[in-house]
Amino acid sequence: MELFSFYPWLFPIFATVFGLLIGSFLNVVIFRLPKMMEQEWKEECHEYFPETVPEPTEERITLSHPASTCPKCNTGIKFYDNIPVISWLLLRGKCRQCSNPISARYPLVELLTGTLALVVSLHFPAGPWGFALLGFTFVLVALTFIDFDTQLLPDSLTLPLMWAGIVTALLGWSPLSLETSIIGAMTGYLSLWSIYWLFKLLTGKEGMGYGDFKLFAALGAWLGWSMLPMIILMASIAGTVGGVIQLRRAGKDNQQPFSFGPYLAIAGWIALIWGDTLLNMYLSYAFGG
Ligand SMILES: [Zn+2]
Repeated sequence: MELFSFYPWLFPIFATVFGLLIGSFLNVVIFRLPKMMEQEWKEECHEYFPETVPEPTEERITLSHPASTCPKCNTGIKFYDNIPVISWLLLRGKCRQCSNPISARYPLVELLTGTLALVVSLHFPAGPWGFALLGFTFVLVALTFIDFDTQLLPDSLTLPLMWAGIVTALLGWSPLSLETSIIGAMTGYLSLWSIYWLFKLLTGKEGMGYGDFKLFAALGAWLGWSMLPMIILMASIAGTVGGVIQLRRAGKDNQQPFSFGPYLAIAGWIALIWGDTLLNMYLSYAFGG
């Protein structure tokens, strides 16, 4: 920590490089976590209904096993071809062995994670809170892409994120008091839970999932309850615009489910960085400060 306060440029550089490397790992998490959940469901179904559901036979995936391979030629990816962004550029987006194109999404996720980490490091000083916020940012990136791909917000990410927010308040790392953090988590969960049930009773439809409540609870735990109205406002506006675009693209018989999680996560991150500025602007506008 002393080193970081001695060299002020060290934290942004560290955060960017760390973010790029974690972004590479997040690509694995985004791709594999939903598949791991599916395997777990199948195994649970088999345990509950052994007569009707056969035992899953495919090999178990974890985050570290099997090692990453090219999906086409199955050649293992060497460490020197796994350097964030740079390797993809050097290989011109193709597998070294079979020239199968590698999606530009991989370097983009790495670049995005590195950039977001840089922004965090420029807004917050190096220290326990600054490092915790890097972790917060990384989990939000993973949740955004997983929900976008699969309409799922895994409990294995949302719940630890919420508890971690409360723990940072307990340890005195977060600027929030423990009370503000816990009330934030409660308000986050219960507000969306109430809207969900109200909407369901009125229309018979489900507008959100339980994952959204847990993610919103996590945002409340990290940012405090006072940021929640702003987050839900930003997420709803962006979500409405995004939903209309999605409808236009897919045509009338669009059955693709709509995920709200990415909008919540992005709005939450914006509130982390610019929330105070936006809140002050609003207050001075509303009350003529
Ligand atoms: Zn290949």
